This record gives sequence, C-alpha cells and structure tokens, in this order.
Amino acid sequence: MSDLAQRMQELNLKFLLISFTDLFGIQRAKLVPSSAVADMARDGAGFAGFAAWLDLSPADGDVMAVPAAPSLMPLPWQPDVGWVAAELQLDGQPMEQCPRRLLRRQLERAVERGYELRSGVEAEFFLLDPSAERIADGADSQEKPCYDQLALMRQYPLIGPLLEAMEQLGWGPYQADHEDANGQFEVNWIFANALTTADRHAFFKVMVKSLAEQRGLRASFMPKPFAGLTGNGCHTHLSLWGAPGSPRAGQNLFHDSAGALGLSALAYHFLAGLLAHAPALSCLTNPTVNSYRRLAAPPTSSGATWSPGGISYTANNRTHMVRIPDGQRLELRLPDGAAHPYLLQAAVLAAGLDGIDRQLDPGPRHDNDNYASPLGQGQCQRLPRDLGEALAAFATDSVLRQALGEDFCRAYEKLRRRQWDQHRAAVTPWERETGLDG
Ligand code: GLU
Ligand code: MG
Repeated sequence: MSDLAQRMQELNLKFLLISFTDLFGIQRAKLVPSSAVADMARDGAGFAGFAAWLDLSPADGDVMAVPAAPSLMPLPWQPDVGWVAAELQLDGQPMEQCPRRLLRRQLERAVERGYELRSGVEAEFFLLDPSAERIADGADSQEKPCYDQLALMRQYPLIGPLLEAMEQLGWGPYQADHEDANGQFEVNWIFANALTTADRHAFFKVMVKSLAEQRGLRASFMPKPFAGLTGNGCHTHLSLWGAPGSPRAGQNLFHDSAGALGLSALAYHFLAGLLAHAPALSCLTNPTVNSYRRLAAPPTSSGATWSPGGISYTANNRTHMVRIPDGQRLELRLPDGAAHPYLLQAAVLAAGLDGIDRQLDPGPRHDNDNYASPLGQGQCQRLPRDLGEALAAFATDSVLRQALGEDFCRAYEKLRRRQWDQHRAAVTPWERETGLDG
C-alpha cells in the first residue's frame, strides 16, 4: 500500500482532494475515493492544463498532479476528506512552471549552501457579506477598529472554530485579532520550514473561505478591496537556519548578539538581496493590478495604511518595507494577500540568496516615520507604481530570472501581462463619473 493510502486509512478518510495551486494561486483539485488513491499516488491525477492558469494549450496532453504525501491534512470541517498538495508533471517530466516544485528547487539551492529557510506569514483577510459589496458586520464601524474586542467576538462563530481547526492540524496557532480595517482579521500560527509554511498558507486560504461560506460570509484576501480602508498584507517573517546535516544544523544563523539589532552579517546580506531585487520581486509578492492600490497609498480612515511606500529597512518600525522586530528574523512587509503561497517563498529566498552569494550591503538603516516624513529619492528607491512597472522590472532582473528558471518566468509573465493588458483596456466607473461631461 502507498504511504498515502496507508495514512488515509489511519486517518479514516473516505476521499482525498488531490490539489495543486496554479500560477495565479487558484487551488484546483480532484476528489478521489480512497480505493483509487494507490494508483494516483504513483501516477498522479490528470488535469487539462489549459483549463487552469498554466501556460498550456488545449492541445497539450494531460498534466498529472502527483501528490506529495507529507502534506496530507484532513479537512477539519469535513473530517472524512483529506487534502494533499501535488506537483505537476507533463509527458512524464516535472513541469518547470509548477509553483511548489519551484519552491523546493530554491530550498535545495539554500541547502547546497548549508541553509534552511524558516518562515511565517500573516495572511490578513476581510469578512464580507456574500455580495462582497460591503463588510459583513454593519456594527464594525469604528474609525480606529484595530483590536476591537466586540467586533472580534461578534465573529467568534468563525474565528473560534478556525483556531480550533489549526490546533487540531498541529500548526501552533497563538493569536487572532481584529485588524486595522473595518471587517478585517488576522490569525497567526507559528513559523516553520518554508515548504511547510507554504502548504499551510495555501490550505489556510481555502479553510478560511470555506468556513466563512458555511456561515453565510465571504472571506477575501484581496490586497485593497476598499479604497479608504487598510488593505490585506501578507507580511513574511524570514530566518535562515543551519540545514540538517550541516555544521550549524538547527541554529538560527540570522541571530548574532554582537551584530546590529542582534542580527548577523548573513542576515544583512539576505536583507540586501531583498532590497536589491524588490522591484522585480514585487511582480510576485504583489501580483495583481489591485496590489498597487495598497502600496504607497494615501492614509486610510484609521490614519495609516501600514504598508510600505518605498524600498527601505528599519528597526522595530512599521512604516518601512523591511522591519527588524528583534534579533531573530526579518519581517518583509511588502507582500499582500494576493501573493502566491509557494511563489512568495521561492522568490524571496532567491532574492535573499543572491544577496548572500554576492555579499551585498543593505546600506544604512532608516528609523524615521516614513509616513510623516518619507525618505527622499536619494535615500530610497521607489516601488513599482503598478503591475506594468513591476512586470518591466521582472523582465530585466536576470539574476532572479535565472534563479527561478526561464520557463517559469516566461509563463508567469505571459499570463500576468494579459491581465495588465485587460486592465489597460477596461473603462472604469470612476472614469465615467468624472468624465462624462468633460
Ligand atoms: N494591513 C496592513 C498591510 O497592508 C498591515 C497591518 C499590520 O501591520 O498588521 O500591510
Ligand atoms: Mg497585521
């Protein structure tokens, strides 16, 4: 019996969702009865690739999604069904544009250098009514709604079971709160190896949406659903540890009590890689047209967007792109709720490794309030203003492209550029409101 079939039996699962995350982060799956799992564990479940966001044609053969057995989790809200992350093959070969495989490749590059990436994500989301026109809770209307206890507890019927589900899954959830926008929430779980975090992140998005739907709500991770409210970030906490079997296995290599803010030279090189590649990186960490309404945005009704405006780093200060909260890790505040769970980790790691390989220097730290008195152009490069600029930066970042692989980059670029072109062709309600009588 395959590992997967055996594990299913132990967990008493009747069905398995063999799932993959396409290039736009949409999860696609087949529901497979346990009796058919053994064959699929070996050969994969078949999909018509053109029907998902992959750069394939209707004439291509079946894409086979081969499950990665260690990622198996029972659905806490449907305990007879399991979920497993799969990696894609075409014509018997691994597909270069498969996001999970791409992350594993970057993790292997890190291991070759003696490092293991451990990461955590803060996947913020809104709870909306089913029409998605407005937030679900009409009473959630404070000007500064962050940490509002009453509004948090009005969503207890969803947040309580969500925390419980994460405990059952063994993720180590440790807090949930109402965030800075009306209708916005965040649930935190403990950091882990980046592949584990990416699998959990992918699953988390589906879990939150499913639990919300069961309660007549709609959950959204969209970066900026409402112009005047704070958007959905996906802050990513990063540290490199000694890889298993390496001389410093299991030690946090970012920590050095003698270093500035308790961080090692290695951490600063990694940070420098993030800064150097930020324009191209944003094409993956901020992947949609809407992503750029969250960055460098005017203050929201709460008083602050809490999102970055330029490419800079700081100590424990939330107004810059990278924050150093303590001597253990870096917090990248650039990514948003649309970031792809696997591509996010892969791209960030590729950028950081380049900083290490080339021993890059991140330059000076800035501890100013970057909202009240933003750094000048000479001190801080700006982030792309829109997806078009991010795509242009991605097109010319040869280091990042080489690390991620040309096949993937071409496929990703092609699909995102199509979205950008659709956006450029769209006539928005705002244009009619302001232009009809012009
Ligand atoms: N929602 C904010 C963002 O878009 C982040 C708020 C926070 O610091 O948690 O990045
Ligand atoms: Mg937050």
